[in-house]
Amino acid sequence: MKGNNPEQKSEKVSIFNARRGAVEEIEKIDKTDDEWKRLLTLEQYLVTRQKGTERPFTEKCDLPKEEGIYQCICCGTDLFSSDTKYDSETGWPSFWTLVSELNIRTRIDNSLSMQRMEVLCARCEAHLGHLFDDGPPPTNKRYCINSITLKFIKKEK
Ligand SMILES: [Zn+2]
Repeated sequence: MKGNNPEQKSEKVSIFNARRGAVEEIEKIDKTDDEWKRLLTLEQYLVTRQKGTERPFTEKCDLPKEEGIYQCICCGTDLFSSDTKYDSETGWPSFWTLVSELNIRTRIDNSLSMQRMEVLCARCEAHLGHLFDDGPPPTNKRYCINSITLKFIKKEK
């Protein structure tokens, strides 16, 4: 288990703050499983911390229609913008690009005997979903994200 040594200096990470339009150096978030369990609902915990997948085509997969930013439910990092959301007909929220490459990490996921790219929050390493190459132009990317990992912040008028 990481992060149990209080003497240890927290690692910093550069995160783009979409509302300020600036890159910030902030501390990475490194909590134990027990801490996450206390902070999240069981379903949020199972998806973000145990790499679960929510059921597609449920009501909560329909994200708000307003303009705004989707943040990480665990740490509030800006992840996706509503204007890059599209309907991939997979039953999960899909985006064709990110708010910033800084805010997301990807890594190879060989589970379920297939090779996929896992999408994680760069600040707290929450599992968000997977990245596929069958999205719409201009990126042809499809960030297939569990809606439960996202918190919507409506754009201020
Ligand atoms: Zn996060």
